[in-house]
Amino acid sequence: MRLKLDRVSKRFGGQPALDDITVEIQSARSLVLIGPSGSGKSTLLRLIGGLETLDGGTIEMDGERVPVDAAGLLQHRRKIGTVFQAFNLFPHLTALANLTLPLEKAHGMERAKAADIAGALLAKFRLESHAHKKPSELSGGQRQRVAIARALSINPRFMLFDEPTSALDPEMAAEVLDTIEQLRAEGRDLIVVTHQMAFARRIADWVVFMAEGRIVESAPGAALFDCPTDPRTRDFLAKVLKY
Ligand code: ADP
Ligand code: MG
Repeated sequence: MRLKLDRVSKRFGGQPALDDITVEIQSARSLVLIGPSGSGKSTLLRLIGGLETLDGGTIEMDGERVPVDAAGLLQHRRKIGTVFQAFNLFPHLTALANLTLPLEKAHGMERAKAADIAGALLAKFRLESHAHKKPSELSGGQRQRVAIARALSINPRFMLFDEPTSALDPEMAAEVLDTIEQLRAEGRDLIVVTHQMAFARRIADWVVFMAEGRIVESAPGAALFDCPTDPRTRDFLAKVLKY
Protein backbone atom coordinates (compact mmCIF):
# COMPACT_ATOMS: atom_id res chain seq x y z
CA MET A 1 0.00 0.00 0.00
CA ARG A 2 0.89 3.62 -0.34
CA LEU A 3 -0.29 5.91 2.42
CA LYS A 4 -0.07 9.67 2.39
CA LEU A 5 -1.17 11.89 5.25
CA ASP A 6 -1.10 15.60 4.66
CA ARG A 7 -1.61 17.95 7.62
CA VAL A 8 -4.05 15.55 9.27
CA SER A 9 -5.65 16.81 12.43
CA LYS A 10 -8.37 15.60 14.74
CA ARG A 11 -9.58 17.15 17.97
CA PHE A 12 -11.86 15.90 20.70
CA GLY A 13 -13.44 18.63 22.81
CA GLY A 14 -10.79 21.11 21.71
CA GLN A 15 -7.91 18.79 22.64
CA PRO A 16 -5.80 17.64 19.66
CA ALA A 17 -5.70 13.85 19.32
CA LEU A 18 -3.78 14.20 16.04
CA ASP A 19 -1.82 17.37 15.60
CA ASP A 20 -1.05 18.32 12.01
CA ILE A 21 0.45 15.03 10.87
CA THR A 22 2.23 14.78 7.54
CA VAL A 23 3.87 11.56 6.42
CA GLU A 24 4.20 9.48 3.28
CA ILE A 25 4.79 5.75 3.15
CA GLN A 26 5.66 4.77 -0.39
CA SER A 27 5.29 1.05 -0.31
CA ALA A 28 4.57 -1.29 2.57
CA ARG A 29 2.47 -4.41 2.74
CA SER A 30 2.27 -4.25 6.52
CA LEU A 31 2.43 -1.00 8.38
CA VAL A 32 2.67 -1.10 12.18
CA LEU A 33 1.77 1.82 14.45
CA ILE A 34 3.38 1.89 17.87
CA GLY A 35 3.51 4.42 20.67
CA PRO A 36 2.39 5.12 24.22
CA SER A 37 -1.24 4.98 25.26
CA GLY A 38 -3.07 8.14 24.23
CA SER A 39 -0.65 9.00 21.42
CA GLY A 40 -3.38 8.90 18.76
CA LYS A 41 -2.87 5.46 17.19
CA SER A 42 -6.53 4.40 17.36
CA THR A 43 -7.69 7.80 16.17
CA LEU A 44 -5.41 7.58 13.14
CA LEU A 45 -6.55 4.04 12.37
CA ARG A 46 -10.20 5.07 12.64
CA LEU A 47 -9.65 8.03 10.31
CA ILE A 48 -7.94 5.75 7.78
CA GLY A 49 -10.87 3.35 8.07
CA GLY A 50 -13.43 6.10 7.59
CA LEU A 51 -14.88 5.57 11.07
CA GLU A 52 -14.11 9.13 12.16
CA THR A 53 -14.11 12.37 10.23
CA LEU A 54 -11.10 14.61 9.79
CA ASP A 55 -10.93 18.10 11.26
CA GLY A 56 -8.27 19.07 8.75
CA GLY A 57 -5.92 17.67 6.15
CA THR A 58 -6.19 14.76 3.74
CA ILE A 59 -5.53 11.04 3.74
CA GLU A 60 -4.71 9.16 0.55
CA MET A 61 -4.47 5.39 0.23
CA ASP A 62 -3.01 4.07 -2.99
CA GLY A 63 -3.53 7.50 -4.50
CA GLU A 64 -7.23 7.64 -3.58
CA ARG A 65 -8.37 10.25 -1.15
CA VAL A 66 -10.37 9.01 1.84
CA PRO A 67 -13.72 10.75 1.36
CA VAL A 68 -15.13 13.26 3.81
CA ASP A 69 -18.81 13.13 2.87
CA ALA A 70 -21.16 10.62 4.50
CA ALA A 71 -21.97 8.68 1.32
CA GLY A 72 -18.31 8.48 0.32
CA LEU A 73 -17.29 7.32 3.79
CA LEU A 74 -19.86 4.54 3.67
CA GLN A 75 -18.42 3.32 0.36
CA HIS A 76 -14.89 3.60 1.76
CA ARG A 77 -15.74 1.56 4.87
CA ARG A 78 -17.02 -1.25 2.68
CA LYS A 79 -13.58 -1.70 1.17
CA ILE A 80 -11.88 -2.05 4.55
CA GLY A 81 -11.86 -4.87 7.09
CA THR A 82 -11.44 -3.83 10.71
CA VAL A 83 -10.65 -5.87 13.79
CA PHE A 84 -10.61 -4.22 17.20
CA GLN A 85 -9.44 -5.26 20.67
CA ALA A 86 -12.22 -7.69 21.40
CA PHE A 87 -15.90 -8.17 21.86
CA ASN A 88 -16.95 -6.80 18.51
CA LEU A 89 -18.93 -9.86 17.47
CA PHE A 90 -22.71 -9.87 17.78
CA PRO A 91 -23.19 -11.80 21.05
CA HIS A 92 -26.60 -13.24 20.17
CA LEU A 93 -25.49 -14.69 16.81
CA THR A 94 -23.52 -17.85 16.04
CA ALA A 95 -20.02 -17.56 14.58
CA LEU A 96 -21.47 -18.42 11.18
CA ALA A 97 -24.27 -15.85 11.41
CA ASN A 98 -21.75 -13.22 12.53
CA LEU A 99 -20.26 -13.62 9.05
CA THR A 100 -23.37 -14.22 6.95
CA LEU A 101 -25.69 -11.56 8.40
CA PRO A 102 -23.50 -8.53 7.52
CA LEU A 103 -22.89 -9.99 4.05
CA GLU A 104 -26.64 -10.30 3.50
CA LYS A 105 -27.84 -7.14 5.23
CA ALA A 106 -25.05 -4.66 4.61
CA HIS A 107 -23.67 -5.97 1.33
CA GLY A 108 -26.88 -7.28 -0.19
CA MET A 109 -25.49 -10.74 -0.86
CA GLU A 110 -27.73 -13.75 -1.45
CA ARG A 111 -28.04 -16.09 1.51
CA ALA A 112 -26.49 -19.10 -0.25
CA LYS A 113 -23.49 -17.13 -1.46
CA ALA A 114 -22.97 -15.57 1.98
CA ALA A 115 -23.09 -19.04 3.54
CA ASP A 116 -20.49 -20.34 1.05
CA ILE A 117 -18.09 -17.50 1.76
CA ALA A 118 -18.58 -17.74 5.53
CA GLY A 119 -18.14 -21.51 5.54
CA ALA A 120 -14.94 -21.30 3.51
CA LEU A 121 -13.46 -18.64 5.78
CA LEU A 122 -14.33 -20.49 8.99
CA ALA A 123 -12.67 -23.58 7.49
CA LYS A 124 -9.61 -21.55 6.51
CA PHE A 125 -9.15 -20.55 10.15
CA ARG A 126 -9.97 -24.07 11.45
CA LEU A 127 -13.21 -22.90 13.01
CA GLU A 128 -15.66 -25.19 11.16
CA SER A 129 -16.53 -27.16 14.26
CA HIS A 130 -17.36 -23.92 16.07
CA ALA A 131 -19.59 -22.43 13.36
CA HIS A 132 -22.78 -22.89 15.35
CA LYS A 133 -21.46 -21.60 18.66
CA LYS A 134 -22.19 -18.17 20.04
CA PRO A 135 -19.25 -15.92 21.00
CA SER A 136 -19.74 -16.74 24.71
CA GLU A 137 -19.07 -20.42 23.87
CA LEU A 138 -15.75 -19.66 22.15
CA SER A 139 -12.31 -18.97 23.59
CA GLY A 140 -10.93 -15.45 23.28
CA GLY A 141 -8.58 -16.53 20.52
CA GLN A 142 -11.36 -18.27 18.60
CA ARG A 143 -13.54 -15.18 18.94
CA GLN A 144 -10.86 -12.96 17.48
CA ARG A 145 -10.29 -15.41 14.64
CA VAL A 146 -14.02 -15.26 13.88
CA ALA A 147 -13.71 -11.46 13.90
CA ILE A 148 -10.79 -11.71 11.45
CA ALA A 149 -12.79 -14.09 9.24
CA ARG A 150 -15.68 -11.63 9.29
CA ALA A 151 -13.40 -8.73 8.35
CA LEU A 152 -12.05 -10.81 5.46
CA SER A 153 -15.47 -11.89 4.23
CA ILE A 154 -15.93 -8.71 2.22
CA ASN A 155 -12.56 -9.30 0.51
CA PRO A 156 -11.34 -5.92 1.74
CA ARG A 157 -8.72 -3.82 -0.01
CA PHE A 158 -7.04 -3.12 3.36
CA MET A 159 -7.27 -4.64 6.81
CA LEU A 160 -6.93 -2.62 10.00
CA PHE A 161 -6.17 -4.15 13.39
CA ASP A 162 -6.33 -2.17 16.62
CA GLU A 163 -4.58 -4.05 19.42
CA PRO A 164 -6.27 -7.28 18.39
CA THR A 165 -4.64 -9.31 21.16
CA SER A 166 -4.62 -6.95 24.11
CA ALA A 167 -7.58 -8.67 25.77
CA LEU A 168 -6.12 -12.17 25.33
CA ASP A 169 -3.77 -14.32 27.35
CA PRO A 170 -0.44 -15.17 25.67
CA GLU A 171 -1.40 -18.50 24.15
CA MET A 172 -4.59 -17.08 22.64
CA ALA A 173 -2.69 -14.02 21.48
CA ALA A 174 -0.19 -16.22 19.66
CA GLU A 175 -2.91 -17.95 17.68
CA VAL A 176 -4.34 -14.59 16.59
CA LEU A 177 -0.91 -13.19 15.71
CA ASP A 178 -0.17 -16.31 13.63
CA THR A 179 -3.41 -15.68 11.76
CA ILE A 180 -2.45 -12.07 11.02
CA GLU A 181 0.97 -13.20 9.86
CA GLN A 182 -0.72 -15.69 7.55
CA LEU A 183 -2.75 -12.85 5.99
CA ARG A 184 0.40 -10.89 5.37
CA ALA A 185 2.03 -13.92 3.74
CA GLU A 186 -1.02 -14.17 1.48
CA GLY A 187 -0.38 -10.64 0.29
CA ARG A 188 -3.00 -8.67 2.22
CA ASP A 189 -2.28 -5.02 2.96
CA LEU A 190 -2.43 -4.53 6.73
CA ILE A 191 -2.21 -1.67 9.18
CA VAL A 192 -1.72 -2.91 12.72
CA VAL A 193 -1.63 -1.14 16.07
CA THR A 194 0.07 -3.40 18.58
CA HIS A 195 1.99 -3.43 21.83
CA GLN A 196 3.52 -6.80 20.97
CA MET A 197 6.95 -5.67 19.88
CA ALA A 198 8.29 -9.09 18.87
CA PHE A 199 5.30 -9.45 16.57
CA ALA A 200 5.62 -5.88 15.28
CA ARG A 201 9.23 -6.48 14.41
CA ARG A 202 8.44 -9.73 12.69
CA ILE A 203 5.71 -8.47 10.39
CA ALA A 204 6.37 -4.76 9.90
CA ASP A 205 7.59 -3.61 6.52
CA TRP A 206 7.27 -0.11 7.89
CA VAL A 207 6.83 1.26 11.42
CA VAL A 208 5.46 4.56 12.59
CA PHE A 209 6.16 5.64 16.16
CA MET A 210 3.67 8.17 17.55
CA ALA A 211 3.68 10.29 20.67
CA GLU A 212 1.29 13.02 21.81
CA GLY A 213 -0.67 13.16 18.58
CA ARG A 214 2.39 13.44 16.35
CA ILE A 215 4.53 11.12 14.29
CA VAL A 216 7.94 11.04 15.88
CA GLU A 217 9.60 8.50 13.61
CA SER A 218 8.64 6.68 10.43
CA ALA A 219 11.05 4.07 9.08
CA PRO A 220 11.39 0.55 7.68
CA GLY A 221 10.66 -2.01 10.41
CA ALA A 222 14.16 -3.30 11.03
CA ALA A 223 15.70 0.19 10.97
CA LEU A 224 13.29 1.61 13.51
CA PHE A 225 13.71 -1.27 15.94
CA ASP A 226 17.48 -1.66 15.51
CA CYS A 227 18.54 1.97 15.39
CA PRO A 228 15.80 4.36 16.44
CA THR A 229 16.98 7.92 15.83
CA ASP A 230 14.69 9.92 18.12
CA PRO A 231 15.29 9.77 21.89
CA ARG A 232 11.53 9.37 22.49
CA THR A 233 11.48 6.27 20.31
CA ARG A 234 14.53 4.91 22.12
CA ASP A 235 12.94 5.54 25.53
CA PHE A 236 9.69 3.89 24.49
CA LEU A 237 11.40 0.82 23.05
CA ALA A 238 13.65 0.51 26.10
CA LYS A 239 10.57 0.56 28.33
CA VAL A 240 8.44 -1.89 26.39
CA LEU A 241 11.31 -4.28 25.64
CA LYS A 242 12.52 -4.39 29.25
CA TYR A 243 10.20 -7.19 30.38
P1 ADP B 1 -4.04 5.50 21.46
O1 ADP B 1 -4.83 4.57 20.60
O2 ADP B 1 -2.66 5.75 20.96
O3 ADP B 1 -4.01 5.05 22.89
P2 ADP B 1 -6.22 7.34 20.98
O4 ADP B 1 -6.22 7.61 19.54
O5 ADP B 1 -7.22 6.40 21.52
O6 ADP B 1 -4.74 6.92 21.43
O7 ADP B 1 -6.42 8.72 21.77
C1 ADP B 1 -5.69 9.89 21.47
C2 ADP B 1 -6.25 11.02 22.33
O8 ADP B 1 -7.57 11.34 21.92
C3 ADP B 1 -6.34 10.66 23.80
O9 ADP B 1 -6.05 11.80 24.56
C4 ADP B 1 -7.79 10.27 23.97
O10 ADP B 1 -8.23 10.50 25.27
C5 ADP B 1 -8.49 11.15 22.96
N1 ADP B 1 -9.70 10.53 22.41
C6 ADP B 1 -9.72 9.46 21.58
N2 ADP B 1 -10.97 9.15 21.21
C7 ADP B 1 -11.79 10.03 21.84
C8 ADP B 1 -13.20 10.26 21.88
N3 ADP B 1 -14.04 9.49 21.18
N4 ADP B 1 -13.66 11.27 22.64
C9 ADP B 1 -12.82 12.06 23.33
N5 ADP B 1 -11.48 11.91 23.34
C10 ADP B 1 -10.96 10.93 22.62
MG1 MG C 1 -5.77 2.80 21.03
